[in-house]
Amino acid sequence: MVNGPFDPVAYVGILKRTRRRRLYFFATVLMYIPALLITYQISPTNRAMGTLFGIWVVVLIIVTFLAAVSRCPRCGNYFHVHGLTLLILRKCLHCQLHISSDTLPNS
Ligand SMILES: [Zn+2]
Repeated sequence: MVNGPFDPVAYVGILKRTRRRRLYFFATVLMYIPALLITYQISPTNRAMGTLFGIWVVVLIIVTFLAAVSRCPRCGNYFHVHGLTLLILRKCLHCQLHISSDTLPNS
């Protein structure tokens, strides 16, 4: 199927990129409280906290956008977006393709 529309190398690459973007998203969400505590230890001022929050929101917007525009390699739709709804789940919201379907033995 080299000449067909299905390209296994691109398929695996797209799924890996989608998993990496999901990792960035969850890492950004989870690092807020530790970053807040570290910043509080260094400089417990409202200005420092506000600056950290502003930086975190900008990074969160960027990683959420990257996760949202990830396309499903099977159906071609956005993997995590259905209509206006963004759901960072493990399956494609359109064709139910699992995020690790390239590594699961029964797929
Ligand atoms: Zn899909």
